[in-house]
Amino acid sequence: MTRLLTRTELTVDLGAIRRNHQILLARLDGRASLAAMVKADGYGLGATPVASALWDDGCRWFFVAHLDEGLELRGALPDDATISVLNGAMPGTEAELAEARLVPVLNSLDQVELWGAEARRRNRVLDAVLHVDTGMNRLGMPREEAGRLADEPERLDAIDVVHVMSHLASADVPGSDQSARQLKSFGQIRQHLPMGTASLANSAGVFLGLDYHFDVVRPGIALYGGTPVPGRPNPMECCTLLETPVLQVRAVGPGDTVGYGATHEVTGPARIATVEVGYADGFLRAASNRGQATIAGVAVPVVGRVSMDLVTLDVTAVPERDLHLGAPVELLGPNQPVDAVAARAGTIANEVLTDLGRRYHLTYVGRPKWEV
Ligand SMILES: *Cc1c(COP(=O)(O)O)cnc(C)c1O
Repeated sequence: MTRLLTRTELTVDLGAIRRNHQILLARLDGRASLAAMVKADGYGLGATPVASALWDDGCRWFFVAHLDEGLELRGALPDDATISVLNGAMPGTEAELAEARLVPVLNSLDQVELWGAEARRRNRVLDAVLHVDTGMNRLGMPREEAGRLADEPERLDAIDVVHVMSHLASADVPGSDQSARQLKSFGQIRQHLPMGTASLANSAGVFLGLDYHFDVVRPGIALYGGTPVPGRPNPMECCTLLETPVLQVRAVGPGDTVGYGATHEVTGPARIATVEVGYADGFLRAASNRGQATIAGVAVPVVGRVSMDLVTLDVTAVPERDLHLGAPVELLGPNQPVDAVAARAGTIANEVLTDLGRRYHLTYVGRPKWEV
């Protein structure tokens, strides 16, 4: 039976995400636990369905980047879920954070001050995570600020520091010694700020060994099937299948060109198939003349420029019977792993996933039973 597609279908396998959760847990020594990164709408796959599936699998702590992401998740998860907001308290948002029982990540003394003031206004102690910077120089308290916090503990009088974290800059860079330096620096900071539990490891950090696990690990991309350690076989399971129908097939010959700017010139008799995705759907324009898809098990190259709604593929190698209107074309899935797709567009799996189009028809499989 030939399969027919009428629209672009994105299928997210929540069962695969849960199995990835288990694969990561199996790397831990039984003492450490796992907090799931579900920022940017669960790396583009849907924060609520992903977090619900992980909750069902025993995960109790979730990190988002923004207040609004936290509020949405708070409405979707059972009350006892812990939800942390990476970007922390901004002036004027403290009450919303507190009322939704979101736990802000405090990245600076300014944020410590804001959160402490909110706690005093409420006449109670509020939970927080402290983020100390150990070399990333992006977010988190620089060494001096962490030192001042240790020397002036009254700054934390109204705050219960439930966790201290730092973030690795080069955990996925083979041969880098930055992780070892950050580990050492984090260990020193922990001596001065020993409260709560601690975490340092992202997905790649989980694979650096037990020294990096502390009490909690904070993986993101590995849960979603991206490879944690580039250059090694990917131990994670693919959880996304993106398929689009063939819209049109044409025969071309020497001298013909394909697409905007005529960037692909045909050298021999060939067939070109056009499919209904484009850069507006997150099929990156950088994949022009570099990307790849799979039709009926045959890998086919993207030829010509990716346009807003359309992509052209050289399908000369595909049997004609597999090229009818509506024939399924795999853009992401077991034959087109997200890391390979990303590499061909000069980027990383995270960007491919977070860019996935809003026009795709999205289906979840493997949903937990309790979720309606
Ligand atoms: C995004 C993020 C992570 C997860 O990183 P992955 O590489 O996707 O595993 C962990 N910690 C922090 C602070 C992050 O921002």
